[in-house]
Amino acid sequence: MPSIFSRIVKGELPCASVYQDEQTMAFMDINPASKGHVLVICKAEYPRLLDVPSELLAAVAETTQKVARAIMQALQPEGFNVLQNDGAAAGQVVFHYHVHIIPRWTDDGVRPFGRPGSADPAELETIAAQIRAHL
Ligand code: AMP
Repeated sequence: MPSIFSRIVKGELPCASVYQDEQTMAFMDINPASKGHVLVICKAEYPRLLDVPSELLAAVAETTQKVARAIMQALQPEGFNVLQNDGAAAGQVVFHYHVHIIPRWTDDGVRPFGRPGSADPAELETIAAQIRAHL
């Protein structure tokens, strides 16, 4: 069965899209740990880091840098976490390789791991549009 993210890639499920190219895609995390929390995925479905061909890893890294640059311009955080949860024990929930970009501000109290929220889809779309304007 295809992953949730493969269904987003195919357009079967909605997302607040930020960027896509041939091999990668970036969209707003539905449960953001902070304002502007974006996920970068490879469109092809590989469950974990060690499964991903190196050229795709490079493509994800390039998109991560590109989107992080746009987030810095659009939202002006002071920094960001880039992280990947690999394996259930490490907190991985969606087994389709992806990287989190989590914007950070001093003393923001953000705990980058496992903070389910109740994001408003319209707000995610607004933030996605702000970031897209810098891509
Ligand atoms: P991980 O724990 O690294 O597997 O993270 C999976 C992330 O995917 C979580 O932060 C979820 O909030 C996020 N997520 C799950 N479903 C969706 C979705 N349909 N659209 C956007 N983000 C999602």
